[in-house]
Amino acid sequence: MKQYKMPKFAVLQLSGCAGCEVSLLNADEWIDQYQLVYMPLVVSAYSVPDVDVLLVSGGVRNNEDIHHLREAAKRAKKVVAVGTCAISGGISNLGNRDEVREVFLSQEERIHLPRLLPRSQPIDDFIEVDLYLPGCPPTPELFMALLLEKEDFKPSKTVCQECGRKKVPDMKPEHFVGFQAGEVLPDICLINQGYPCVGTSTRGGCNALCTKPGHPCVGCRGPSDAFIEKDSSAWLKSIQRVFEKMTNIPPEEIYETLRSPQLSLFLFQFSDYNQTGKPPRPKEKVL
Ligand code: SF4
Ligand code: SF4
Repeated sequence: MKQYKMPKFAVLQLSGCAGCEVSLLNADEWIDQYQLVYMPLVVSAYSVPDVDVLLVSGGVRNNEDIHHLREAAKRAKKVVAVGTCAISGGISNLGNRDEVREVFLSQEERIHLPRLLPRSQPIDDFIEVDLYLPGCPPTPELFMALLLEKEDFKPSKTVCQECGRKKVPDMKPEHFVGFQAGEVLPDICLINQGYPCVGTSTRGGCNALCTKPGHPCVGCRGPSDAFIEKDSSAWLKSIQRVFEKMTNIPPEEIYETLRSPQLSLFLFQFSDYNQTGKPPRPKEKVL
């Protein structure tokens, strides 16, 4: 009898936080259907062997990242960029703060440390990517849809479509209340309650993980299909218009809030990317 040969997959972790790996490990349906052959967090192996699928998390922040990424990609039939960092550089750009940089560079003279790049870069600045899985991190369900190639899985166009909260036309806040203001009314849209929720034009697929329990969506799934092939400014303008229509918040306050650290990491992820001068990723390649 012919034996079923399980496809092999590897997880290459570059400069990131390991949140993507933890989320992947919470998605266990793949265990009987894939053989995990490399993932430093849980599987000991010196380097990435030949694999069917390579998941890459983390941004490219130093010269070792470039080396590991190029070597691993050569051995993979399909490469998937997983999470905000692999797609846009992400949280490791927080290391641009001068004091962190100084500590790192002073150590570099004494012991071998990888050489920092000026900024954290997306992996497709260095290799071809077959598929993008945005999220910070992508949920376990998204990992399962990816690995098991679930044909019935189709992310909703926006987080709003998965949220279930109702928009109330005459409930218009005068100002934002912040990201965590305490009490949240159930069933009513968070924008009506003064929260800076950007679920209106953020890609769905996360099952409105944050907004259902009352936390505003910060846009980690990236722009919806309508904006994915456009510059980030189109996405930002659309979000700004939603707040202008649904609230009485002054336009300057909306402008400032959309550029706050909580939101800008995600809202500018595609704008960051476009600084490289490359064409936007085709929406067909984004799960
Ligand atoms: S709370 Fe956010 S995601 Fe939910 S309906 Fe309102 S804008 Fe959309
Ligand atoms: S609700 Fe928004 S921030 Fe939360 S997981 Fe979904 S896309 Fe990300």
